[in-house]
Amino acid sequence: MPKKIETVVLHDSSTPILGDIQKGGNVVVTTVETLLSQARANALWPLTFGLACCAIEMMSTVAARFDLSRFGSEAFRATPRQADVMIIAGRLSKKMAPVLRQIYDQMPEPKWVISMGACASSGGVYNNYAIVQGADQVVPVDVYVPGCPPNPDALIYAVMKLQEKIKRKKATSFSDLRIIEVAPRTLEDSA
Ligand code: SF4
Repeated sequence: MPKKIETVVLHDSSTPILGDIQKGGNVVVTTVETLLSQARANALWPLTFGLACCAIEMMSTVAARFDLSRFGSEAFRATPRQADVMIIAGRLSKKMAPVLRQIYDQMPEPKWVISMGACASSGGVYNNYAIVQGADQVVPVDVYVPGCPPNPDALIYAVMKLQEKIKRKKATSFSDLRIIEVAPRTLEDSA
């Protein structure tokens, strides 16, 4: 006869013995989607895409004074395949635009983009034939950081805004899951 589970007790990290079930542990009830969005939002791995002077401010965010690791985003990656947030830091030239798009396409889903500074967001002072007048003409941008240059606090604030956005949005990776209906087995099937 199958066992019936009547009580579920979760143990917090201060309870080392998992085999010995005790009552009185902490219980958290949530959905898988919420859990995934929380995990994603609090462990964003930025893709380094420094294009001009704004990049210096971007680098400062991971230094000791500002310490972006407080928000789980200190692991800047040099390969798109290990990153989920692209920070476009600096003016985007038309020559660089196809490269930026290709690198964006190589990032795995889900992925986000922060446009850092006036130049990346709108061309800034470079209203000329060589500069893209807004990175959102090339990739979808989630958060814009104003300023020339924005200081590291502004970029950290943008990361926090992005975290809020990710937490609000339900994870989509499980949306394609379907319930597979299995026909009940009969005695004739097993015969
Ligand atoms: S916004 Fe200002 S600091 Fe940033 S890339 Fe443009 S000119 Fe440089």
